[in-house]
Amino acid sequence: MPSADSPLNRRRRLVRRLAGRRADAMLVTSAPNVRYLSGFGGEDSWLLVGRGWAVLLTDSRFAEQATLDCPGVEHVIRDGAMADALAGALRGRKVRRLAFESEHVTVAEHAKLAEAIGERRLTGVEAAAAGLRAVKDDGEVAAIRRAIRMAERAFAGLIAGGAKALLGRREDAVAGELEYRMRQAGAAEASFPTIVAAGAHGSLPHHRPGPARIRDGQAVLFDWGAKAGGYCSDLTRVVFVGRIPPQMGRIYEVVLKAQKASIEAIRPGRPASSVDGVARRLIAQAGFAGRFGHGLGHGVGLEIHESPALSPRNQARLRAGQVVTVEPGIYVPGVGGVRIEDDVLVTPDGAQVLSRLPKAIGSMVLH
Ligand code: ZN
Ligand code: ZN
Repeated sequence: MPSADSPLNRRRRLVRRLAGRRADAMLVTSAPNVRYLSGFGGEDSWLLVGRGWAVLLTDSRFAEQATLDCPGVEHVIRDGAMADALAGALRGRKVRRLAFESEHVTVAEHAKLAEAIGERRLTGVEAAAAGLRAVKDDGEVAAIRRAIRMAERAFAGLIAGGAKALLGRREDAVAGELEYRMRQAGAAEASFPTIVAAGAHGSLPHHRPGPARIRDGQAVLFDWGAKAGGYCSDLTRVVFVGRIPPQMGRIYEVVLKAQKASIEAIRPGRPASSVDGVARRLIAQAGFAGRFGHGLGHGVGLEIHESPALSPRNQARLRAGQVVTVEPGIYVPGVGGVRIEDDVLVTPDGAQVLSRLPKAIGSMVLH
């Protein structure tokens, strides 16, 4: 993994990738990719990357930020349509074929782009920048680590009061408190809407917290993360209020065993699908086949879900420097669910768990 990367180096790698597509430049329209390739942390801005040059197309709201965030990148402060700014920025440059991010451009935008670039050709390229982003450099890993610490501090603070911190409270109020605590810990925002699922709600992997009140003897599933410096963290823990409900103890132990075994299976060169398979097999062998409906995990970085997916379908081999979540689960409708999620760095010889919250079943019971 590159120890000290820079937006300039990233743009150079992107341009090398484009050469194979016979494109002379690329229009980058997705905000995380613009940020990755330029350092610009604002919104509503596009980046044009060519061989030895780059232009940020932004507007007056971000003029000052553009100067601060991305030295070495020219800025165009547009006062009209983005497509007109693009046409202006291309004028006089040797661009015959312009690549664009096919997964981020709508049909309507494509029509406007085609009109704006005149004689030039457009060529759709998929996942050009996203592919670069999968392997993190040291600075990115440090940023993810900071986002993890903020999420952990918030959660530890929330449950420090024991069972009474949760008892009788609405799921949505508890989710709000966890997000507030992340902001207090320094997060810019939650990296996705916080999930708090009490009792049987835990069987819905993406439950939306609502007015249901947390009761004694329930399992409560938390899935939350902080975003800081542009980077995300993503964690899941299940706590038991007062005591462990029937069936849930065994389910918890199976999920924990599957999570630990799949983390141990992570190393560079191993297909993502085979790491998923380790957890899936253990869960099936314990009698819960069909109760683990989602993939084992996903890459995490500037976006909450990014490459690589740890799923039965992704046969790509893991690479050192990737950061992935490992989050097996067992979901039993009407009873509840358990998911345990940590963020894991693929190292040159294995894996390092970046998150540190306790997960042994004994430490999950709140009194
Ligand atoms: Zn999560
Ligand atoms: Zn996740």
